Amino acid sequence: MENQVIIIGAGSTGLSLAWRLASHGIQVQVLEANPTVGGLASTLRDGGCGMDMGPHTFFSDDRDILDTVLRLFDSPLTARPRSAKFYYEGKLLDYPLTAYSALFQMGLGSGLLAGLSFVKSRVLPRRRAAAATPEEESVEDWAIDHFGEHIYRSFFKPYTEQFWKIPCTELSSRTIPSHTQMSFINTCRLLIRRRLAKLDASLIEREMLPTYYPDSGFQEIVDGIAREAGKAGAAIRTGCRAVRISESAEGRMCVQWETGSGTVETVTGTHVVATIPLADLTRMLDPAPPADVLTSAGHLDYRALTVLGMVTERQNILGCSYMYVLNRPYNRISEMNEFGPATSPPGENVLMVEIPTLRDSPAWTASKEKLFDMCIGSLAADGFLAPGDVKRLLLARMPYAYPIYRKDYARHLRGVLDYIESRPRLFTLGRTGEFMYMDIDRCMRRAFDFADRNLARFAEASKAGGLRDES
Ligand SMILES: Cc1cc2nc3c(=O)[nH]c(=O)nc-3n(C[C@H](O)[C@H](O)[C@H](O)COP(=O)(O)OP(=O)(O)OC[C@H]3O[C@@H](n4cnc5c(N)ncnc54)[C@H](O)[C@@H]3O)c2cc1C
Repeated sequence: MENQVIIIGAGSTGLSLAWRLASHGIQVQVLEANPTVGGLASTLRDGGCGMDMGPHTFFSDDRDILDTVLRLFDSPLTARPRSAKFYYEGKLLDYPLTAYSALFQMGLGSGLLAGLSFVKSRVLPRRRAAAATPEEESVEDWAIDHFGEHIYRSFFKPYTEQFWKIPCTELSSRTIPSHTQMSFINTCRLLIRRRLAKLDASLIEREMLPTYYPDSGFQEIVDGIAREAGKAGAAIRTGCRAVRISESAEGRMCVQWETGSGTVETVTGTHVVATIPLADLTRMLDPAPPADVLTSAGHLDYRALTVLGMVTERQNILGCSYMYVLNRPYNRISEMNEFGPATSPPGENVLMVEIPTLRDSPAWTASKEKLFDMCIGSLAADGFLAPGDVKRLLLARMPYAYPIYRKDYARHLRGVLDYIESRPRLFTLGRTGEFMYMDIDRCMRRAFDFADRNLARFAEASKAGGLRDES
């Protein structure tokens, strides 16, 4: 049987797609540039310690996906409540931000100002040019309308700009997670309901779902998906970076890939599904897409992330699993032992420090020692970790961690997706591939649904000839 789909990228999307297609008898080849599978959901292992690419937990309101992931494990994973905080001017606030934190935890004066400025934003709406589309509404306009000027200036603006390094006036409101459900009124309602009655299920946000974490690192989840995909017959190759995609006159797709040693090899199949950054994908297409498509793809950039792990014998450093912080060189800190106690050898722990980075900034290429010097002063001043507490350092860099939603991103994205949709044998999928914020459960759902929708098409194409591996 020779029906081949070539999947570029072995993150949770590529692996889930390979699993589903291979389970239905489609022959699948996955090419992954990194030496290991998992992409953003992988765990770096070094000297017995594990560090995720930023804190990861598994949660889902999709029963089928939840069961699928839980079934990957022989012993049941324990559900835990999420424990996150916001460290704001020496005070610990609830995360996600609630009306309670705005009104009471930030201090009485601040609470009063927050309430008054929210009322003002309702009674006296600001004059501003109407956004042509919902995506073009800026973070600034959205946050002032929904929370008032005070919370915008003291919370949304400094945190968002520290994280993205882009003014709030230039970012789309889509940048804010759960922005459609969040507002001052909603958080007040949620607070009152929680206090007075049983929580209304319709108000439960994704942040409140129970979370799961495998014993030794989040990687166990993606390894489990890769194992099932392999058992079903998918071939997964790591250390293979796709560099060129072309279509032959007979309509066969050819993907050229290179190994770390620079050898270039080719595989051909009937269809290609890419889960990689759109600018990279469009650049590797031969023949090249029209210039306006390449220009639009160039506008769809991703914010990089540098994660520094500090191995220490200190335990229970934060009093919660992870903490967002303001006015520091890092935006979030988290403690690996709070996720999985077996992520480090007994007696050790990893404090994970996330440093928002641009790929052209000095932090992107800085050594771990230099990054340590940049962060340790603030960590010590806040009482989390002193220089002498740190035994050694781990470092992970992700060049494409967060799609950047500038106000014009939707227009550019549409242009690129329209072009890809005009190519019947080429698809793009996943958080990175679709330029869409998604957690793993959504990546898996979209991959499974995509496979189910296209099974007949892929099976049909096989009759005309499948994949040839010319390596
Ligand atoms: C800091 C952070 C925290 C998160 N926390 C959570 C959480 O708690 N829970 C949750 O469910 N989700 C979380 N997420 C989201 C989750 O990590 C992603 O949704 C998911 O991992 C995306 O998977 P993907 O396969 O779509 O993309 P990716 O993981 O980006 O996979 C793309 C793959 O393509 C490979 N690739 C790129 N270029 C090429 C090439 N030319 N050739 C071959 N391979 C290539 C990459 O190496 C990568 O492996 C978090 C994300 C981040 C950044």
